[in-house]
Amino acid sequence: MIYTCYEMARDCRADKPEGWSHFITNYVPLVRKFLAHYGGGEIEPVLKALRDPGSSMFQSLEPAPERWFLAELRQKVLAEIPFPAAEIAIDPETVAAALAPLTVVEKLAAWLETMRYDPKESGAILRMSPETVAKIRDKAEELIRGKVDAWRRNLLAENGRALGAEAMAAKTEECLPVKVFLDVLDGRATWRGREEMERHVTRCWHCIDHFCRMAEVIQSLRGVQPLTGEESEPFRKLLGVRMQRAGWKRLVGLGG
Ligand SMILES: [Zn+2]
Repeated sequence: MIYTCYEMARDCRADKPEGWSHFITNYVPLVRKFLAHYGGGEIEPVLKALRDPGSSMFQSLEPAPERWFLAELRQKVLAEIPFPAAEIAIDPETVAAALAPLTVVEKLAAWLETMRYDPKESGAILRMSPETVAKIRDKAEELIRGKVDAWRRNLLAENGRALGAEAMAAKTEECLPVKVFLDVLDGRATWRGREEMERHVTRCWHCIDHFCRMAEVIQSLRGVQPLTGEESEPFRKLLGVRMQRAGWKRLVGLGG
């Protein structure tokens, strides 16, 4: 029997052990991956913070349940990772002005630096050659350098978390729904010939960031193996997940 992400969300909302057990088996490896990539610490406190039936990651899952869930999961994990202020801070307006001459695809390649992806990883995420990404990065660095007083390499990466949070918050009424980005990422549509869409995205860093986050989520699923029963056990213990219903109810004090 196939137990889907949709059913997991429903069961986690209802705080059922089936849901949490599936979450642990299938998504602890992803939580680990995000933590490792974004410089997080121990996984245990993060998992405890995630164990919340009311969490937004278990709510509306349309139009792509697993990706939508993972996009939320990524945000929840990042929220648990503190980040130091950049030594040389750069504000979103400066970045937007500096990178305005770039095309949409170039902006995506440049923006992935804020998400700590090197040209090779970014190339895999955007299905471009690493050399092309590296060239775009050089161009972006020069553009930014021309707009700031203090500059050094990797300014976008250093300011990445702050810029990402600003971009998230900058959502407008015209911003595109996630479905549009998924169509591009799944090869059902391209930027080419969709001038209206491109006209918005090219001047909207919320949408650039949103697209990059969805592309990241799709890439992050590649090569990830679920935990074995044995590997899951310590996490089930940590989160108090018991598969026998009676024991579970007793554990969380729901009666019985
Ligand atoms: Zn937008």
